Amino acid sequence: MSGLLLVGADPAPMLAHDTGPGHPERPERLAAVHRALRARFPDPDRWLDAPPAPREALVRVHDERHVERVLATSGTRGWLDPDTPYGPRSAEAARLAAGCALEAVRAVRDGRAATAFAAVRPPGHHAERDRAQGFCLFNNAAVAIADALAREPSGRVLVVDWDVHHGNGVQHLFDDDPRVLHVDLHQHPLYPGTGRPEETGRGAGRGWSVNVALPAGRTDADYLEVFDALLTPAMERFAPGLVVVSAGFDAHRDDPLGGMRLTADGFAALAGRLVTWTRAAGARGPAAILEGGYDLAGLAGSAAAVAAVLDGEPAPDPAGRADAATRAAIEATRGAHRATSGPLGAAGRHDGRGETR
Ligand SMILES: [Zn+2]
Repeated sequence: MSGLLLVGADPAPMLAHDTGPGHPERPERLAAVHRALRARFPDPDRWLDAPPAPREALVRVHDERHVERVLATSGTRGWLDPDTPYGPRSAEAARLAAGCALEAVRAVRDGRAATAFAAVRPPGHHAERDRAQGFCLFNNAAVAIADALAREPSGRVLVVDWDVHHGNGVQHLFDDDPRVLHVDLHQHPLYPGTGRPEETGRGAGRGWSVNVALPAGRTDADYLEVFDALLTPAMERFAPGLVVVSAGFDAHRDDPLGGMRLTADGFAALAGRLVTWTRAAGARGPAAILEGGYDLAGLAGSAAAVAAVLDGEPAPDPAGRADAATRAAIEATRGAHRATSGPLGAAGRHDGRGETR
């Protein structure tokens, strides 16, 4: 098992996803990420191209009609939702983005790489079972997680979403499944409006959706405090076999869509925590999948800093302390989970199948 594997060696098909003039989710985003990653990891052996996601992988999380609808956009232009335009090659890009996510997760599961980073667009975490949403056509992370669970039905997956927006699609696709622990830190209120602490999951998955709704203005120290306060116990009790990151970088302080104040060092420190905890749990990964991030320098610099830590470089240790508003958000999440039998519940230890011991 080597270090970091980068998936999406040839970004051209994903750059061809044309969202039209003035749209924040523009090709220049992935071009900037790609340039930054290539500069840090020039060795071609680090890079892999993936095939487009096969249809059977897409329909594990999306209904047939949605898959057909996206694929049928090929060669045309229009809008799939008020925020989500498409061009003639968007369907191809979306299918390839999901394929890269799939390959990144397979690589860490198979032991071909210790960690992976899928450099993709369009992003995926807002896409729901039956529709595109919020710049997202197919749910890349969900497609990859569902593939891992299809190969290992008894597996347990932790997905951490630090994109500034709530990952509603990933949450809803797995919110009744105690094999998937979804931990989502996001700005609230903000698009898409979901992700309140009280959203803890449904049915057997109640307690396996962890939402940390943070006010704007959070810093590196605030995010690290959330990780330490909530993810440490959650990981210990859930004991994941695989760790996936929905790695958006729109919580960066320069991002035009988010109101957070994170730095590249902060994202790298979060990645460092996850690497350490993943190793301690004996789990595979992390496999990071690019989501949002709309300031080109902030996005590219943060992605490269995270990739370096995933490759084993020491994580930075940003200064500062969490403030009272962050501690209140942590308490709100704890309080919402207390009555559940999930990993943050008060009911004792768990075997990850919704049963309490
Ligand atoms: Zn976002």
